[in-house]
Amino acid sequence: MSSLGLKRLTSKIEGFQQQQFLLKTVRAGLIPDLSTWFIDGCFPVLLQERSLLLRKWYDLMIQNKDDLAKIITAESGKPLKEAQGEILYSALFLEWFSEEARRIYGDIIYTSAKDKRGLVLKQPVGVAAIITPWNFPSAMITRKVGAALAAGCTVVVKPAEDTPYSALALAQLANQAGIPAGVYNVIPCSRNKAKEVGEVLCTDPLVSKISFTGSTATGKILLHHAANSVKRVSMELGGLAPFIVFDSANVDQAVAGAMASKFRNAGQTCVCSNRFLVQRGIHDSFVTKFAEAMKKSLRVGNGFEEGTTQGPLINEKAVEKVEKQVNDAVAKGATVVTGGKRHQSGGNFFEPTLLSNVTRDMLCITEETFGPLAPVIKFDKEEEAVAIANAAEVGLAGYFYSQDPAQIWRVAEQLEVGMVGVNEGLISSVECPFGGVKQSGLGREGSKYGIDEYLEVKYVCYGGL
Ligand code: NAP
Repeated sequence: MSSLGLKRLTSKIEGFQQQQFLLKTVRAGLIPDLSTWFIDGCFPVLLQERSLLLRKWYDLMIQNKDDLAKIITAESGKPLKEAQGEILYSALFLEWFSEEARRIYGDIIYTSAKDKRGLVLKQPVGVAAIITPWNFPSAMITRKVGAALAAGCTVVVKPAEDTPYSALALAQLANQAGIPAGVYNVIPCSRNKAKEVGEVLCTDPLVSKISFTGSTATGKILLHHAANSVKRVSMELGGLAPFIVFDSANVDQAVAGAMASKFRNAGQTCVCSNRFLVQRGIHDSFVTKFAEAMKKSLRVGNGFEEGTTQGPLINEKAVEKVEKQVNDAVAKGATVVTGGKRHQSGGNFFEPTLLSNVTRDMLCITEETFGPLAPVIKFDKEEEAVAIANAAEVGLAGYFYSQDPAQIWRVAEQLEVGMVGVNEGLISSVECPFGGVKQSGLGREGSKYGIDEYLEVKYVCYGGL
């Protein structure tokens, strides 16, 4: 496979029709022969023009926001309102990086040598291969591609098998915006080809950078592939977010935060709370109010129907995982407060579920759920909660609710995660750095830091002065 090389895998953006054709071809198990085409690794326009093109792409996303949202709902099952929110969030990365493109600065350094100056240049890394998941089929692309194009790189995007159409629609709009052919490329690919395509992307000498969002297990495979040619890598991987409610918390605020953090996209977000840790004094009140809020405000159904707040899970495997975690917890002594089984609608629908009397040995505490399951552990002391929260190999997001300022500083500093929500359940924003520590990944996306992932720092020693 790798001998076919990237040239034969990638496609010049010539519109949606060609991408549709590619999708069918690759799904049929064939690799399209596009050997007449190649990528040169550099977005061949001046900085200001790059900025304007990204801005035009943003404008087109906003003009087409309703259609783009429908595509997301159709391919992922996400409720339309959430899909509309994702499109706005997704477009904002193009806008943000259209502005950041004009703020790539170097440095001049004075050293102890009188006749020399050090110059620091920032240059695009080259072709960036981008592999994205299905849970945010648009935003996970623009968060990377916006930064890459702003830096002056070209990209090859491999979207998830379940959600190729959002990536292709973005290609159509990139075309309309006037982004030159060969700058934003998409390789839609069936799941049984993902491994081979991933290997080509991570080993081909034409590619300088890998940016991946997905599971930690896949991230490790890609890191191995990338190691041989020592490519730059960014990894946005899995999480196991703790959500801690201390006795001093405002319970109503904590419940609102828990609802937002847990049930967005049916619990299928990497930053979604996976482990609820609630202090003894406030525990019963929190569990009662959380269950009431779930019953009152969550409605499972077709994402296109008005009022639906939770669509289906992405596939049968995802439903089986939630079911297995619930059964495991109940067998080990957990109590089902609400939900607990497949939804009566059938298919990939699962009931929003709240478990209490949960212990640390249960699967729902040790492995990422990626579904609408909220397990609650009761704790006594702050140190105990922090220890449980940090007893994970991953560290993406963490949340806690407290009205005690000293405790807020202590816990925010002690949590081993890349992002902390203090009295807040929704933390993502284009202006702030997104990313994790430990096995949750490498690098940051969005914010003023995101563009650095696509820039090389070059030092020039200027002598003879
Ligand atoms: P996944 O199985 O790792 O898939 C992600 C992407 O990698 C898909 O495009 C997939 O293609 C592809 N892929 C799978 N195996 C591959 C291989 N061996 N070589 C190359 N590509 C391969 O992850 P997922 O289950 O779809 O997504 C959920 C995970 O993503 C969760 O763990 C979640 O926490 C994480 N996530 C992290 C962030 C973050 O920013 N940190 C954001 C969103 C999601 P196919 O779809 O064709 O299999």
